[in-house]
This record gives sequence, structure tokens and C-alpha cells, in this order.
Amino acid sequence: MTLFPDKKDCCACGSCEEACPKSAISMREDGHGFIYPIIDNQKCINCGLCQKVCAYQHIQETNEPKSVYAAVSRNKSQIKKSASGGIFAALATFVLNRGGVVYGSSMERNGNKFIIRHRGITSMEELPLLQGSKYVQSEIGNCYKEIRSHLVNGKIVLFSGVPCQCAGLKGYLKTGYANLILIDIICHGVPNQQFFNDYVNYSFPKLKDISGFVFRDKSKGWELSGRIDYGQNHHKSVIAGTSSYYTLFLDAQIYRKSCYSCKYASPQRPGDITIGDYWGIQKEHPELIAYHKLNIQNGVSCIITNTEKGDAIIAEACDLITLFPSTYSKVANRNGQLVHPSQEGRFRQQILDIYQTDNYSGVDKFYKKNYRLQRLIHSVFSILPYSVKSLLRQLKS
Ligand SMILES: Cc1cc2nc3c(=O)[nH]c(=O)nc-3n(C[C@H](O)[C@H](O)[C@H](O)COP(=O)(O)OP(=O)(O)OC[C@H]3O[C@@H](n4cnc5c(N)ncnc54)[C@H](O)[C@@H]3O)c2cc1C
Ligand code: SF4
Ligand code: SF4
Ligand code: SF4
Repeated sequence: MTLFPDKKDCCACGSCEEACPKSAISMREDGHGFIYPIIDNQKCINCGLCQKVCAYQHIQETNEPKSVYAAVSRNKSQIKKSASGGIFAALATFVLNRGGVVYGSSMERNGNKFIIRHRGITSMEELPLLQGSKYVQSEIGNCYKEIRSHLVNGKIVLFSGVPCQCAGLKGYLKTGYANLILIDIICHGVPNQQFFNDYVNYSFPKLKDISGFVFRDKSKGWELSGRIDYGQNHHKSVIAGTSSYYTLFLDAQIYRKSCYSCKYASPQRPGDITIGDYWGIQKEHPELIAYHKLNIQNGVSCIITNTEKGDAIIAEACDLITLFPSTYSKVANRNGQLVHPSQEGRFRQQILDIYQTDNYSGVDKFYKKNYRLQRLIHSVFSILPYSVKSLLRQLKS
């Protein structure tokens, strides 16, 4: 039994592992830290179910975009904890208020490691656990099994994840459920957890008792910068342009192999609703800022509805979200992954090989040598006020 012909054909959605009736499949790390399903031949009975549920290889999406919006949550405190305009939190609130269960990615500290994994929540108090982007592959664990049981028991379930996870869940369930709402987030690719943890431990050796890592810290506005929480309520900013992890991530050098041929980087999306950052909103919709007084400093999202159910949910949740009509092509202008997959960075194989032989210290050396000028420019840029940075970004685009 072969689960995938080539590494590019497996996105690690975990559907085969959860579907196997003999628990013969487990997810294991390869030499670069990416997880892949491995079959225990002693347990396998050759039933073929693992192949049938593999949406990434065998199921074609047919949805087409229906409505497109620029959008922000009406709850300002929810926006601040979110990566973009807080749309996930608004839709999660909509579902939790109706007694539903919400699944998304959470990040916990365990010893000297961060564990990024999907989990379900049933209360508003738990919602912050799922808010914010974690730019690392999130483990699915046994979420699909739990979700099926909730759906069968009539609960409303909202599942939010990268598109291949939404498709993985659909492949696992095999049948549609009226009480399931799927949100896929625009995704350009994921690095793995081992690489991220090695980055943190190597790059911040002096920080004691690290407790949190916020990938999208909004304290300086809507931009790509991070924050590490450590000790007794201490924080350290992480400037994306001078961080090896962020730079290699944004430069498409360290994604999983499947991400460079991702079949969901297109208008045929697996979710009822797609959400992402509305990058370039100033250029695409200057009227929203000039006449509608849209405040973009804390982030603006894009929403794309892909099914009738998605349209209906957005209409019903409109008291939680401010919506402005837009178009797919306007959103895609600064979000190329809505049209094509990320192009593999030219250093990817070299970096991963260095990582395998010399650990993260080798990666850090490579980064410092090859991104010298970029680091310098970003160090200077990072000390400018947010308004000046916004203006420069506008001029550049
Ligand atoms: C790996 C990755 C790549 C991304 N690439 C892009 C991009 O190229 N363009 C773009 O416009 N937006 C991208 N995003 C999405 C963007 O960062 C925001 O998550 C999105 O706009 C939703 O923001 P929000 O304010 O509505 O909610 P938030 O509260 O910020 O979003 C939280 C939701 O994101 C999900 N999530 C967070 N981390 C992960 C993860 N590792 N795996 C699966 N789900 C996760 C959670 O389940 C939660 O539902 C990416 C996100 C991730 C995780
Ligand atoms: S079901 Fe998911 S994890 Fe399993 S082989 Fe297919 S893509 Fe990989
Ligand atoms: S063929 Fe059946 S028993 Fe074997 S790994 Fe796949 S699902 Fe499990
Ligand atoms: S780019 Fe595609 S394959 Fe890679 S994590 Fe995102 S959705 Fe999955």
C-alpha cells in the first residue's frame, strides 16, 4: 500500500491516519522535520480506505467564488488579537452563540517546545486560544473523528484551517453535513514545527521561561512582526525582516514540498468561506478609507464566499462584521496564492540540507550571509513610525 507517490503529493492533512480502521498509520517526521504518514505493515489489512479519503490526491474541488468583501469585525478587541480583521473570531462568536463547537489552530508551550495543533472549543473564554496566525504546520490529531461525532449528534461545527486541512476533513467525512461550516484561510505554505522550535531555541538563548510566540503582533499596527513572551510578563519584539525564520518563510524557502504545487491556490476552494488579509486595500479601495472612514491600522480582512451556505452565514452574521463589496481579482492582486502556488525559493533544498547536517546554527549562518542587505534595510525601516511605513509601502506598490 503506497500512500503518496511523491512528497509533493502529501500535504499531511491526516485524513488517512484518522480513517484507518486498524490504526496502522502514524505521522512521523522526515530528516527535515516534515511529517508524513507511515503504514505499519503488520497492522495493515489492505482495505484501501486510506487512499479513498485522500482528498489532496483524489478529490477535485468544484466551488467557484460567489461574493467577495473587504471586511472587519465590529468587535475591536477581537481584531487586536487577530492577524487580520478578526473575521474568524466574528464567525466563531456566531457559532458559539448558537451552542456550536469551533475548531482551529492553537499553540501551547510544552517544556522547551511549542506544540501547534488543532483543537475544539465550546466557549467564548477559550476563543483567544484559536485566534491569530501560527506560521507553522498545525497537527490535526483526532479532530476529524471528534467533528464527525459532533455533526452526527446535530451540533453546529465550524472548522477553520488551511485549505488542505478543510479538504482533508471533507475527504474523511465522505458526505456533506448541513451543520458543518468550513473556513479556509488563504495560505502560501507552511514550514514545520521542528524547524520553528529550533529557530526559537537557537535565536533567543538568553530568554528564560518563554511562554508565548505571537506571529502577528498588532501593537505597532497591521504588519508582519512578531512578539515573544517570556519570564514574568516580559516581551520581546521580533522584526520580520531581520528574523531568519520570518525571512525564509516569506521568501518561500522552507515550506513543505506540497505547498509549491498546492492545488488549492486557485479560485476552486474547499471552504464555504475563504478569509485572508486584504493586502493592498489602500490601492484597491481608496474610497473606503477616504469616504467610509475605514480604519486599516488594526487590519482588514478579505472574505470570499464559495458556496450558498457561505453566502447565507455571512448574511446572518452581518451584525458582527462590517462588509464592503469587492472583487476576486482585486483581492488576488496582492495575494497571488489565490491564483497560483508559491514558487519554490531557489535556496530551499540547500537550506534544508544545511539544517539536517548543521542544525539551526547552519541555517542562521546561511541567512546572515545571504540576506545581509535585506537585514540592514529592514532594521532601518523598523524604527520608522507606522504612518511613514504605510506611506512608503503605498509608494512601493
Ligand atoms: C500558514 C499560513 C499562511 C498564510 N498565508 C496567507 C497569505 O498568503 N495571504 C493571506 O491573505 N493570508 C494568509 N494567511 C491568513 C492570515 O494570516 C489570517 O489567518 C487570516 O487573514 C484570518 O485572519 P483573522 O483576523 O480573520 O483571524 P485570526 O484570528 O488571525 O485567524 C485565526 C484562524 O487561523 C487559523 N490558523 C492559524 N494558524 C494556523 C495554522 N498554522 N494552520 C491552520 N490554521 C491556522 C486558526 O485555526 C484560526 O481559525 C495565512 C495563515 C497561515 C496560518
Ligand atoms: S490523506 Fe492527507 S496525510 Fe494521508 S497521504 Fe493523503 S494528503 Fe497525505
Ligand atoms: S489499507 Fe486500510 S488498514 Fe491498511 S493502512 Fe490503509 S486504511 Fe489502514
Ligand atoms: S500551501 Fe496548500 S498544501 Fe501547503 S499548507 Fe497551504 S493549503 Fe496546504
